[in-house]
Amino acid sequence: MNYTAFLIKYAEIAIKGKNRFLFEDALVHSIVRRLKDVEGKFHVYKTQGRIHLETEGEYDYDELIDALTKIFGITAICPVIELADEGFPVLCEEAVKYCGEVYGNKKMTFKVNARRARKNYPLESMEINAKVGEALLHAYDQYSVDVHAPEENIYIEIREKIYLYSITIPGACGMPSGTGGKATLLLSGGIDSPVAGYMIAKRGVTIDAVYFHAPPYTSDRAKQKVVDLAKIVSKFAGSMTLHVVNFTEIQKYIYEKCPHDELTIIMRRYMMRIANAIAEECGSLGLVTGESIGQVASQTMQSLLCTNAVCTLPVYRPLIGFDKQEIITISEKMGAYETSILPFEDCCTIWVAKHPVTKPNINIIAKHEHNLDEEIDRMVETALSSREKIEIA
Ligand code: ATP
Ligand code: MG
Repeated sequence: MNYTAFLIKYAEIAIKGKNRFLFEDALVHSIVRRLKDVEGKFHVYKTQGRIHLETEGEYDYDELIDALTKIFGITAICPVIELADEGFPVLCEEAVKYCGEVYGNKKMTFKVNARRARKNYPLESMEINAKVGEALLHAYDQYSVDVHAPEENIYIEIREKIYLYSITIPGACGMPSGTGGKATLLLSGGIDSPVAGYMIAKRGVTIDAVYFHAPPYTSDRAKQKVVDLAKIVSKFAGSMTLHVVNFTEIQKYIYEKCPHDELTIIMRRYMMRIANAIAEECGSLGLVTGESIGQVASQTMQSLLCTNAVCTLPVYRPLIGFDKQEIITISEKMGAYETSILPFEDCCTIWVAKHPVTKPNINIIAKHEHNLDEEIDRMVETALSSREKIEIA
């Protein structure tokens, strides 16, 4: 069957009144943006309670469905037959033709579900169900009706046009990009943070990203890897600005002035401070990291307390309760894994101590940070003002 139209369904919970328009417009925008990467010509528009997609000319069905199933906010995608209203007998014929093409005369139970959104249609829903059902039973001797637990549901929606469908492909669910405010993602070249970005994007949150690099200790290729990961996250989260912060001077200075077993934690506190400042400047409502309790020394509850304490914005950690394998599964699903495992250095791993503190005491850490004096404030200012901004479209 060559489909030229699709019904896009979305959850209707919590989208009453004005929110509904915002939600639908955001979803249409996400679909249009995403389909730019799919070969073919597509028209996306909304009518009451539905988003429609129509194709023009050649396109690849699998590629289109693959793209649609990755868009947050869509609960289901239904390939439909779009019919003009040419009278009820024609509708019956079309239903027979449709089932013949999709199912043939296989042994199956079915139920017809008609919905009359246009009330001036001459038949009522129940009559449509009964008469189309009869036509199908007449045409295919292997079919039988089961109104309680049918194997196949045949849907008929009477609107301006008439829609006939029975295939429902599950969508990614979640909320459309742009309906949930903005957050600032600390994006490294690892596996976790792109997944954290994906998870927060699933709730409709748009993202700005911050990457700390330490040239010449971290290479241009390491930076390019982060740009590539930002592009992958942006498929789900929408366009974003990637702020690339030069962290070399700060890292070296901390290394010089602080106990080495506290390097990681102090460094991470400075990362959070800088990210917090960028987030406030960009109008973000929170920070997002890929941390998960106990994964490494800097992600114990004690360490998280120390890094959290320097932030004024809430820090969201969508992966906090996930095991590594669960994170990898999502990373693969979102198409980031192959990029994430490319072996480039990260600034965090360059000056790590052999035995970093795993249970830092926040008072002691704060005391040791005093050694850094005003000098570090100047360095933070420089890092902030000299940061590079890369637009990820
Ligand atoms: P990831 O796989 O996301 O790099 P990780 O397991 O390597 O995480 P850490 O290195 O402790 O863990 O980093 C914890 C979090 O801090 C990351 O998930 C990320 O949000 C942030 N982060 C770490 N390094 C950087 C960096 N160079 N630039 C921006 N954010 C970073
Ligand atoms: Mg990392």
